[in-house]
Amino acid sequence: MTAPTARVWTVVKRRDAGQCIVCATRDGLSFQHRQAVGMGGSKRKPECVEGVTACVPHNEAFEHRLQALALLRGWKVRGWVADVSLVPVWYPLLGGWHVLTADGGREWVSWAAARALMVDVYGDEYERWEVAA
Ligand SMILES: [Zn+2]
Repeated sequence: MTAPTARVWTVVKRRDAGQCIVCATRDGLSFQHRQAVGMGGSKRKPECVEGVTACVPHNEAFEHRLQALALLRGWKVRGWVADVSLVPVWYPLLGGWHVLTADGGREWVSWAAARALMVDVYGDEYERWEVAA
């Protein structure tokens, strides 16, 4: 996957309080690509809305062990979703859902609003993830 520009990575880390959004470590942080691109996929540099800050162990877990949870929480986004900015992100350390904005910010949204956004994007699939979680 293509690394973000230094500017985007700096903005994303600042937005995420300079810590892994799951475990709060400030060491060994990485740009978590929310949306995987396939082999030979886009060479385009990701924008702020396309990444969150995660430690390397969490970044790797989102691809495997924690993938279902990562989808449920918006840390990962299905590859076919056309606009990743429509998928809200759960910030466990803040205890709230946020919508990421193109300028590198984030806006709090209620649990109900976040769930409605998820169901708009994923439909019945999101409800199945909730049941499985
Ligand atoms: Zn972590």
